[in-house]
Amino acid sequence: MTAAPSRIAIEPDVLIVGAGPAGLAAARALVDAGVPVLVCDDNDQGGGQYFRQLPASFSVCATSRLYRDQPRALQALSVLKHPLVTYWKSTTLWSAGADGEFAYSREGMTGRLKPRQVILATGAHDKASPFPGWTLPGVISAGGCLNLIKGQGIVPGRRVALAGNGPLLLVAAYSLLRAGVKIVAIAEAARTIPMLRHAPGLLASPALLLLGMKYRMAILAAGVKLLTGHAVTQATGDRHVEQIVFAPVGADGMPREAGARTFEVDSLVTGYGLSPSTEFARMMGLDMHFDRVLGGWVPQRSQELETSRAGVFGAGDGCGIGGVELATLEGTRAGLSVARRLGFRIDTQAREADAALARMNKFRRALAAAYLLPTEVQLATADTLVCRCENVTLARVQAAAREFNGDFTRVKSATRIAMGSCQGRNCLGTCAGIVSRECAISLESLVPPRMRPPARPIPLSSLLAETLGPAHEPGIDDGVRREESTLST
Ligand SMILES: Cc1cc2nc3c(=O)[nH]c(=O)nc-3n(C[C@H](O)[C@H](O)[C@H](O)COP(=O)(O)OP(=O)(O)OC[C@H]3O[C@@H](n4cnc5c(N)ncnc54)[C@H](O)[C@@H]3O)c2cc1C
Repeated sequence: MTAAPSRIAIEPDVLIVGAGPAGLAAARALVDAGVPVLVCDDNDQGGGQYFRQLPASFSVCATSRLYRDQPRALQALSVLKHPLVTYWKSTTLWSAGADGEFAYSREGMTGRLKPRQVILATGAHDKASPFPGWTLPGVISAGGCLNLIKGQGIVPGRRVALAGNGPLLLVAAYSLLRAGVKIVAIAEAARTIPMLRHAPGLLASPALLLLGMKYRMAILAAGVKLLTGHAVTQATGDRHVEQIVFAPVGADGMPREAGARTFEVDSLVTGYGLSPSTEFARMMGLDMHFDRVLGGWVPQRSQELETSRAGVFGAGDGCGIGGVELATLEGTRAGLSVARRLGFRIDTQAREADAALARMNKFRRALAAAYLLPTEVQLATADTLVCRCENVTLARVQAAAREFNGDFTRVKSATRIAMGSCQGRNCLGTCAGIVSRECAISLESLVPPRMRPPARPIPLSSLLAETLGPAHEPGIDDGVRREESTLST
């Protein structure tokens, strides 16, 4: 399906997609310069992942542990009430055309936006790392666990283990401890985390370094077993996770049976990193590149954070995983770039933002390098589901990868990976790794399949008013794309 081009589009000067830290900072920079903006976000409250709010009907006392970042969140969110801001909450942008037109779904209706300038601040999602038992109830991603705690004030279990790689695992563990959860053990896949070796880069942000140390000390002080060089290899239970197995991981990324240990749990949190949400970058055909440090495929951007399409800017985790501080700085920088494009003088602020960004990028690279694995952990067995929307196993993707000689688009068409309700948000990164290994093609040279609308799930009622367009633009594609496009409609 394509978005019908015939409707009359609203034409805002500036559209910001996403009201997370990056989108909010971009809006602030723009309104401070006097530029009106339209901010759209699919949640019913702004804040994105980091500033996720409890439902408005909940009341929380000021000393609550959940309240920790609330003053900062409220300050960031206050921009949504600024007279120059039009804020459309619960609005999902679901398609973006090469002509720069966006389709949205809002209050059961669809419409079109044709902004003069756009800032994509779409954030990230959890990277899945399938292993036997990962679809059992009680197994939850690190981001999902943080959402539960922040967005609902509930924890996934009482006896919890965590497995994964990278700093978000520490954040999740710390948040669980503060919520009174018993942490049984943590399996960090990196064998060592050489902070000292990367100290020069890490010292670019002493505050974040101290925060990380605080999390680590709290975890150690609570007597939590921290197993480095380990990963989760199995979760079992009768209708719900009850036992998990942690095993050492070799330098080849494969788990070893010798030294495996079983733990009794009622929940397992897994966090093998985040993937940037690049649905629109892929839909609009922006130039992209693969960068492991940034979390996968990301749009190319200039120093001004403009993508390969003039007037389309990108900020925050959606353009490379970097956390809340970097997302905020990038949002500010993208807002300033757009203001300059519209004729406002912002040279001093832009220079300051660039200097701060350079420092934070140095920190990001050093932190990523400290946690970098020699090769990604490989925990799935032949019959493990790697695409849970469409029930596709590892063996099926491997066979398709061999059959189509590493052509990722054909693998997608043949197996239906990335065509379910998540549209590849969960499985695309995993399947890219499988195709890359199976056909000995580097991830850098693998071409990701083009994204098809809807970018995010929307109510069927929103689509009833849509015209069914041609399956793809004639002449740019082969029959495979036609089949894929028809199926994903
Ligand atoms: C699930 C999850 C939980 C996290 N929790 C934490 C945490 O507790 N602590 C921490 O330090 N870091 C956390 N992070 C890391 C987090 O990504 C960054 O710290 C920070 O929130 C990034 O800011 P951002 O503005 O780039 O993106 P986000 O905060 O992700 O904001 C992007 C916003 O854009 C919206 N959006 C995306 N696509 C569309 C669309 N098509 N239509 C409409 N709206 C759209 C999203 O719903 C979201 O509200 C989490 C990440 C994830 C994925």
